[in-house]
Order: sequence, then C-alpha cells, then structure tokens
Amino acid sequence: MKRERISVKDERGRPGSVPATWVHSLVIGSGAAGLNAAVQLARHGLEDLLLVTEGLEQGTSINTGSDKQTYYKLSLCGAEADAPALLAETYFAGGGMHGDLALAEASLSARAFLHLVNLGVPFPRDPYGQFIGYKTDHDPRQRATSIGPYTSREMCRALIRELRRLRIPVREQVSVVQLLTVDEAAGPRVSGALLLNARGTLEAVLAENVIFAVGGPGGLYRGSVYPEGHTGAIGLALLAGATAQNLPESQYGLASIKPRWNVSGTYMQAIPRLVSTGPDGRSDPREFLMESFDAPGRMNSLVFLKGYQWPFDARKVAGGSSLVDILVYIETVRKHRRVFLDYRRNPEGFCPEELTPEAFQYLERSRALLPTPIERLRQMNPGAVEFYRSRRVDLARRPLEIAVCAQHNNGGLAANHWWESINLRHLFPVGEVNGSHGLYRPGGSALNSGQVGGIRAAEFIANRYAAWTLPKRAAVSAARAAVTALRGWLTQAESAPRSWQSERTELQARMSRAGAHIRAEAEIGQAVQEAWTQYRRLAAAGCSGEPREALCTRQLCVAHLAYLEAIRFALEAGAGSRGSSITLSPDGLRIHERLEEAWWLREEDPAFRDRVQETTMRPDGRVEQRWAPRRPIPRPDHWFETAWARFRSGEIYGE
Ligand SMILES: Cc1cc2nc3c(=O)[nH]c(=O)nc-3n(C[C@H](O)[C@H](O)[C@H](O)COP(=O)(O)OP(=O)(O)OC[C@H]3O[C@@H](n4cnc5c(N)ncnc54)[C@H](O)[C@@H]3O)c2cc1C
Repeated sequence: MKRERISVKDERGRPGSVPATWVHSLVIGSGAAGLNAAVQLARHGLEDLLLVTEGLEQGTSINTGSDKQTYYKLSLCGAEADAPALLAETYFAGGGMHGDLALAEASLSARAFLHLVNLGVPFPRDPYGQFIGYKTDHDPRQRATSIGPYTSREMCRALIRELRRLRIPVREQVSVVQLLTVDEAAGPRVSGALLLNARGTLEAVLAENVIFAVGGPGGLYRGSVYPEGHTGAIGLALLAGATAQNLPESQYGLASIKPRWNVSGTYMQAIPRLVSTGPDGRSDPREFLMESFDAPGRMNSLVFLKGYQWPFDARKVAGGSSLVDILVYIETVRKHRRVFLDYRRNPEGFCPEELTPEAFQYLERSRALLPTPIERLRQMNPGAVEFYRSRRVDLARRPLEIAVCAQHNNGGLAANHWWESINLRHLFPVGEVNGSHGLYRPGGSALNSGQVGGIRAAEFIANRYAAWTLPKRAAVSAARAAVTALRGWLTQAESAPRSWQSERTELQARMSRAGAHIRAEAEIGQAVQEAWTQYRRLAAAGCSGEPREALCTRQLCVAHLAYLEAIRFALEAGAGSRGSSITLSPDGLRIHERLEEAWWLREEDPAFRDRVQETTMRPDGRVEQRWAPRRPIPRPDHWFETAWARFRSGEIYGE
C-alpha cells in the first residue's frame, strides 16, 4: 500500500491536495460477501489489499436473519443424488438466469460451504459427518441448511476472525461516494474509488481491481426489512456506467416494522389475528381479511400457508396465499391504515377443524392445537417469541405492526462467470449487489452466491489481473476531476432548497408505491417522470445536510431512477406478472372476486424467462435497456487429459 497526496485546487481555486492510497485490490463492503472476497484474495497470495467499509458491524449479513436463516448448497447428505449440473438446473429453472452463472454457483457451492465449515461456522451434521439438510422454497431436494436465526451473522464473525488472522488491512467508518474509471483502448475500466473518511473529508483509493460488495438496495424503499441504516450503493456503479441486469426482480414479503424482521415460518403458522387500524394504531380496529372471504377456515388456512410461502409470489395471488400480502398492501398503502399481527386472540370464527387438512395436521403433529395464537407459537417455536421479547416486544401483551417489505434484490450488476462486470473491466460485483439470480431462486441461494462470487473473483484476479496495468497518470487525473466535481456538488448542496431527508423520503415512497411488489401499467409512467424531475433537481442543486447522507441520497436517487425505468421497460415489453411482483392491467385477469376492478393482473409471458433484462446509464443520464437472450448451461468437454491441459495453461480464465 502506497500513500501520497494528489494536488487538487480547493473550492476557491487555491492549490490544495487530497490523500490518495494505492492498493492492488480494493474491497468495498464487509458483509459476508466482501469479507470472504478479501479472505479469498489473501488465500490466492495477493498481498496489497485494503477493505473499506461503513463498519464491520454494518450491512445486512451481520444485522439480519430470520426464523431459520437458510444457506442453500449442494446436497451433502444421505443417498439422494446431487451434482453441480443438477443444482445448476434448479437455479436455471427459476427463469431469467444465465446458465453459466447457474453452473458456477452450483460448482463452487460445496467449496464455499466447506470453507465456512472449516472457519468454524457450526452447520449441523450427523454422527458420521453428513451435513443434514431440509427443503426450502423452489428446492426439489434437501439442499438447505441453517444454524438458526443468525446464519449470516455467524458467517461474518468467522470471516472477520480470519480477516484479522490474515492481517488484511481494514478501514472502518468510511463511505465510498464515487467509483473512479479511466478509458482505455479495450474499453472503460475501474481505477479506484473516492471515499469520505471518518473526519468527513474526501480521499482517493486507486486500485488495479475493485471488488464491489456493498449489498442490496435497502435504502430504496419505505417498506423495507433490510436493517435500519443499510442503504446499499448500487447507484455508484450505475453512475460509473456499469451495466445492471434483472433490476425489476426483487423479493418482497410480510415483515414487522419495529424491529425489522420477516414474519415467516411459525409466525404465520400460529395463525394470528390480522387487524388493521386508523393511522393512530388504535382507532377503528378491523379484521380486514374477513371482508374478502366467505369462510374463516379458508382465510386462516391461507394465513397458515404464508409461513412457508413467505415471499410474495405472482403465481400465488389468484386464490393463493399471496392474496394476504395484497390485502395488507391495500390497507397500508392505499388506505393509509396500519396492520398488526395479534397473537393474543384467535381470528374471528377460528375453528381448527375448518382448516385445510395440511394446516390442521401440521398443528396437530406439532402438538400446537392450542387455544390462542401465542400458545401455538410458543409451542412450535419458543425462540420466535423470545426474539421479540429481547427487543422489548411482548407478543403476549401487544400486537406487532407489519407491512409488505422489500427484502432482497435478485437483480443487480451484470457480471460474467468470473464475477467481473460485463462492461467495466477490473470491477467485480459480489454478493447481493451482483444480479446473478433470475426470477425465482431457492431460499438461501443469496448466501451461497455471495461466497461463490468472492472465490471466483479472487481466482480470476490472481491468475489474470495480478500484475499492475492501471495507467497511473490517467487514474490520478480521474481522481482529481472527481474530487473537484464532488466538492462543487457539496458546496452547492449546502444551500439546496431541500434536505437529504426530504429527498430520500420522496424517492422511497415512490419506490414502495410504484416499484415494489404491486406495479401498475397506469402508474409507472408517472412515477418515472417524477423520478426524472427529482434526479435533475438533485444533479443541479444537491440536497442539504450531512455530506455523507447527501451523497448517499444522490446515489439512491440515481438507482431509483434506473430501477423505475427498468420496471417500465419490462411492463411495456409485456413480461407480465412474475417473480415477486404483479403488474396490474385493466385488460388482465381478475385476482379475486371481492377486489375492485383495479385489481386485475397481466399474466406472465413465459417467453421472457429466456431473456435477461440489461440496464445501463449513459454519462448524459440516458437509461438504456435491452433484453439479452440468456446463455444456456454450459456442457463442457470433461475428457480429463484435455481439460487438465486447459487448466494448466490458464486457458480456463479466458473462457
Ligand atoms: C430479513 C432478511 C432475511 C434474509 N434471509 C436470507 C436467508 O435466509 N438466506 C439467504 O440466502 N439470504 C437471506 N437474505 C439475504 C442475505 O442476507 C443478503 O443478500 C446478504 O447478507 C447480503 O450480503 P452482502 O455481503 O452482499 O451485503 P451486506 O451484508 O449488506 O454488506 C454490505 C456491506 O457494504 C457496506 N457498504 C455499503 N455501502 C457502502 C459504501 N458506500 N461505502 C462503504 N461501505 C459500504 C456495508 O456497510 C456492509 O458492510 C435475507 C435478507 C434479509 C434482509
């Protein structure tokens, strides 16, 4: 690591300078994905490394979890056959995912998982060392595993221990505010990043390679179950011109608001009462689900089903359990009311014998046919009750406020099967910011994908990008120009008419209204127009308040514009209702006989499952969209002698 100062004139044109650090490979972000990437770079013998992060305790991985947080991997138990090609087919079957990415995520799954095991993550095993598993959503086998509610937290802790053991330099309390790029004959490449340090001043880090592990876009939504304070930073890469893919494909589901936590699994299988109230949380309480069902048995069975059909699913809307999410959305977003889960009393007309046989037998076998929801929950999962109690919410005493929240982005930046950006060389998006997934993904594959990405990127860097090739002069000029421009923006922002809070609230409300799980042909055009107005206002005038937050709002605004443009493009192309969102259309299919006419959905056009939607922001702000045909699952020639020769010669890194 080499330190120097780059001369840059200050705001008044006087000579000045900013600190600059040169490192071979820079890792941005310390979630499970970034930490692993740094460790893998060191394992491959790369020494000149730096990890910068808002904090080792920040981000989604270390701050979140769920009822039973799932890690998805190749099956390593029992007599059930499994193989990389079979796992790849499961990934591919979700639609919209490139086959080579599916095969890479499948092929490295066991390696990534065993790496965590060897670091001490206590994944459960039987007396003979087999890693026991269970079935998760969209999973034909028992490939899922878990160490409880905090799988990703324990992964982070094990990886942080390893990071320290390997003495990889880390800088905390640092916000990356811009990616730096230079143009070369072969096309643009990343050359480092600008960051705001703990003192609030700008610094440059110039790097041969950048691993971008900033997590999912939690800051884009008002209804969000990403940890408080986790905003993500995909907007920085979009601003730098990196192409994204499948941006409209995210996962949404029911979650409590305080604390932010998915109310999946036993929280719904206990069949609580769902009550909506006026904005004060007390007046006019109503069991609103009742208004849409003739029989309480049917309604309660759908609530039960939400337990293991947690994400909102376009295929489960008409007559299925995702109707519950729609009814909650209508109360909270359309009627501006509040919705609560009440475990103290049964839903009106609750009668266990009227449940579907599936729900009844589940409760019976769990010895949970008990008089109240709280007793049923305590019986099936005492930890679930304890979780809230430890956060000062006693479910036996008071209701729990919920909403339909954004939880995960299946899409993100577009990268190849070595996790290098498809159009910004030397940039490696890993973890949730990498949009490798398609429309549907087995629960738990996000964590696998994040680990695989770090191994792939490190292996490629070690074999192809180990030497310094960065044109140093150009890199310094790019940093200088970026510092000058950002300082100008920040100076102007001091007197901006609106604060970062007000700008952020505006874009989050727009995303939750028009760009989340309910999308309407009639509304999206208006939302995109509003997004452009806000984008132009922020570009010209900035927003006032703390510079770190103002700059974060700037990149969130860019991101929300790109996401909304991508959603509009998909809607206009006719991709229809798919994955975890539906498209409302006046000439569509009626969702439910008790819902008004606005609730008609456009059915999915399955032809789009074989395409991947790509989105690129051009320097003038234009957002370009296209459908790329998806790449099939590769079927390489595995004749050992020739494949070994290709490996020995390094040819595999050129493929
Ligand atoms: C409630 C919930 C439950 C989930 N359950 C599951 C599950 O069961 N199974 C599963 O596979 N997945 C699950 N997920 C998804 C999974 O947890 C995430 O996809 C994954 O943890 C993301 O890891 P990451 O390393 O990519 O990002 P993160 O863990 O979010 O880390 C991002 C890092 O980047 C840093 N950062 C961001 N911006 C900047 C910046 N500008 N400058 C500097 N640093 C920055 C952050 O501080 C943080 O250190 C769940 C997600 C949620 C919200």
